[in-house]
Amino acid sequence: MTFESQPRDTVLVPLNSVVPNLLTDVRYATKDNFTGRVLYTTDTLYARHVVAESLAVAQGYARERGLQLKVYDAYRPLSIQRLMWSIVPDERYVADPAKGSRHNRGCALDLTLCDSTGRELDMGTGYDEFTERAAATYMDLPETVLAHRQLLQKIMSDAGFDVLPSEWWHFDLRGWERFAILNE
Ligand SMILES: [Zn+2]
Repeated sequence: MTFESQPRDTVLVPLNSVVPNLLTDVRYATKDNFTGRVLYTTDTLYARHVVAESLAVAQGYARERGLQLKVYDAYRPLSIQRLMWSIVPDERYVADPAKGSRHNRGCALDLTLCDSTGRELDMGTGYDEFTERAAATYMDLPETVLAHRQLLQKIMSDAGFDVLPSEWWHFDLRGWERFAILNE
């Protein structure tokens, strides 16, 4: 991927080139995802440079609390969006490729919080669990789970991201509208 002619903050970069020692669990590079298929040929995650830099800020906030972030997904080519939509054509959980996902713009991150040893904090549901309990607005959950979700939202909000109401794990960089949909 080379985009030398583009402004620096819009270039797609590997997240781990900007955020050292970043934990990842790229389910779409395995069959362990809601499609049951391997969707990505690499488990390296990419995002716009400004998104990766903002993630580094969020990681700093997490580490101040003795925690760290773990990323499941970031940039997603439009062709993969079309494949996901063919399997789950439900806009609550998969963006319609006709409109494009913020993942297709390189501006969205799916992630959770882990302790210092890399163990995930309890968020009430797993990643990509397509239920109402996965909604960031769902409140009928144990106090500890609500506290973990609020902490993740606080860390990400302070770094410039807003949570997607229907998915506790999905965050969009504020200002994502200025970035185009890509299919690199
Ligand atoms: Zn997402």
